[in-house]
Amino acid sequence: MQAEFMISVVVPVYNEMEVLPDFHERISRVFDGLPLDAEIVYVNDGSEDDSLSILNRIREQDARVAIVDLSRNFGKEIAMTAGLHKAGGDAVIVIDADLQDPPELIPRLIDEWKKGYDVIYAKRARREGESAFKKLTAHIFYRLMRTIGQIKIPEDTGDYRLLSRRAVDALNTLSEQHRFMKGLFTWIGYRQKAVMYERDPRYAGESKWNYWHLWNFAIEGITSYSSAPLKLASYLGLLTALGAFSFGIFILIRTLLYGDPVQGYPSMIVIILFLGGVQLMSIGVLGEYVGRIFTETKRRPLYFVNDYSARRGNAERKEARLEKGNCAE
Ligand code: UDP
Ligand code: MG
Repeated sequence: MQAEFMISVVVPVYNEMEVLPDFHERISRVFDGLPLDAEIVYVNDGSEDDSLSILNRIREQDARVAIVDLSRNFGKEIAMTAGLHKAGGDAVIVIDADLQDPPELIPRLIDEWKKGYDVIYAKRARREGESAFKKLTAHIFYRLMRTIGQIKIPEDTGDYRLLSRRAVDALNTLSEQHRFMKGLFTWIGYRQKAVMYERDPRYAGESKWNYWHLWNFAIEGITSYSSAPLKLASYLGLLTALGAFSFGIFILIRTLLYGDPVQGYPSMIVIILFLGGVQLMSIGVLGEYVGRIFTETKRRPLYFVNDYSARRGNAERKEARLEKGNCAE
């Protein structure tokens, strides 16, 4: 049976042995009910558990499965990128393996794609099993990105989405090392649409994200899309210089009027420490950007592939897309 379209699904996998069998079961049930060809690209992101052998077993039983085995753990963003490079479908769906993104939503994503949208993202109606603090920090982050990053990243949206072929091709032309995917998905533009759903708490295993990771993630997002922190540093410098200048005039007049007994140690030490702090902070902000320039200029490949097992069946279809992408094997 030659179906009209082929849909690729990209699944980054890092230590997910507990959920993989259930995940595959659920996603294959969804595709069994659709009149489409499917390709499910599992990207093993250097898992230390038995995820890879489970994936190999799944692939033996299901011809739709492809496996990209990366040479080590590169992080979710790069794992997704590797999957997008390999995906050969007319549309590509990115989904987490932990069943927090319900595969049952896929038919609705496909419907919107058929209506002509290029990026259809799944928007959570509510967040289950997450602390108030995490919700608040997430909200602040999105606000910040909107105002200083000038990029409208949809709130309450993970990476779960469907991308049209041209959206994937657009993403694949971006070769930057610092890949803030949530931003990139939005940055490419095209017609974007939200589909609402209720997100479940993590099914099994545990989230690999802690607050330190989230903090770095936020810095990554902001520095990738905005040079506002640099501007802030210069304004802060200007402001302190103005303050120092007025204080200088005040001291001068006071000395002329009242003489100059040796006094003012506390105010002096406060000023010195304050200026030192402002300077160090500004250098730190500068450093964040210089560090990013440093990694970008090395132009390293984004990842290395240890092994790639393509989807069995209609190999010709894949061949055309395989050459693409910024990767080395
Ligand atoms: N993941 C990955 N590499 C990593 C960390 C995570 O490929 O270094 C995958 C993980 O297997 C899962 C998805 O990314 O499929 C989301 O991970 P997680 O559930 O830990 O993140 P959260 O849902 O808390 O954002
Ligand atoms: Mg998760």
